[in-house]
Amino acid sequence: MSHRVIVWVDRAEAIRAGKNAWGHQTVELNVTALDDVQRAELALVPWRRDTRPNTEELTGYRLDADWLGHRSISEATPAVVAELLTDRAARREQAYAAWMARPLAEIWDGDGEDSYLVSPTGSASRLRLDQFRSEWPALFARRHAEIEQAIADKLARQAAERESTICEWLAKPADDLLYHAGCGTWEVRRPATGNSDPRVKSRLAELQALIPEFEARRQAAEHEELVQRLMTGDIQRLIGSDYGEREGKWKLWYPNLDDPRLADRQAEAARLVAEHNAEIERRAQERPAYIARIIAEHGTRNQQERLAAGALPLGEATALAEQVIFAALDGEPRYEKLTRADAEHSDECDDPDDCHVGYDADVATEMPGCVWDAMQSLRQKLGRDDATIEARRHVATTACEVETERWGIRIQVDEGGYEFAREYACDTPQED
Ligand SMILES: [Zn+2]
Repeated sequence: MSHRVIVWVDRAEAIRAGKNAWGHQTVELNVTALDDVQRAELALVPWRRDTRPNTEELTGYRLDADWLGHRSISEATPAVVAELLTDRAARREQAYAAWMARPLAEIWDGDGEDSYLVSPTGSASRLRLDQFRSEWPALFARRHAEIEQAIADKLARQAAERESTICEWLAKPADDLLYHAGCGTWEVRRPATGNSDPRVKSRLAELQALIPEFEARRQAAEHEELVQRLMTGDIQRLIGSDYGEREGKWKLWYPNLDDPRLADRQAEAARLVAEHNAEIERRAQERPAYIARIIAEHGTRNQQERLAAGALPLGEATALAEQVIFAALDGEPRYEKLTRADAEHSDECDDPDDCHVGYDADVATEMPGCVWDAMQSLRQKLGRDDATIEARRHVATTACEVETERWGIRIQVDEGGYEFAREYACDTPQED
């Protein structure tokens, strides 16, 4: 029997062999029968798009650089190609024998038809079982029984594992299988095997039926935890800001929480809310008369006219009030915010221009003598007993861990339903 075989050299192989010629030719081989390996060799040589000869032939033999090293493609006569195939077949036969000698566990894995076999040639590439069977029918046939047995064993092992997974899951208490997924909804932890088993289905139905009871228990526990938390600690826990109402007002945070143990605290909280809101209301009512008095006593004629016409911006009026209140401190330097430029850096700082700086400020209970003196001096000059005067320590902290501090004296006066505050500078001796 005669086989037509296309023999070719592709560009990459020619370059590897240091030759400048690539191309193809067709040879007729007189081979009585090609074995599996040879057939596969001829059928599977991959055509590359850039080297494929212009032909419909689907079998071919690519000559490699080793062969080309000594010859040119014109020397690929039928006899030479037949010898190449025989030689290759002999090498394949060795690989074939080695493959047969390997334990099945090393070359087979997977489930049923989805399993694969390691190819007997070349690299350890894996082929799906059906693919392997069609490419290497003789080789496959020799181990067919063994493979079938391995598949059957594996399926049996899987069935046993599945059964044990289901049994373990069925044995778990509902507490382990139901969990609260948030907002009163509950989820079931299902077995990894899925829901197809009838025992799993019926257990899932039982668990679904338990959800209302679990949810009721969860709500009761949540209620109890909240009551316990609210019964102790700061009464403010029962009070929140009333964002819907006038600015600064409060409201009861849990008006519908009905528990006799909380009755006293709720009443106390309600009293605080009422007091606080009455004060907010009182201040609000005080404001128009106060603004009228400030403008009448200290405003310009223009401001007085605009106030009468309802055309005076509130901000302008309160700015005037602030000026009047702090007039005694005119000329005292005001506190200036710490900035990046003020922050000092460590000698080891990598890049002061890029070093992160964080800022913080706190009312200080302890302070240096000069800050104390500045507080007393400002208090005396202002001459108001109702002013709140605090020392504030401002700190800039760099990523290289150096703190730069600056002191300020904050003065607050509550008047006419408004809070007026200014912060004055306080020079402290520079330490070096
Ligand atoms: Zn730094």
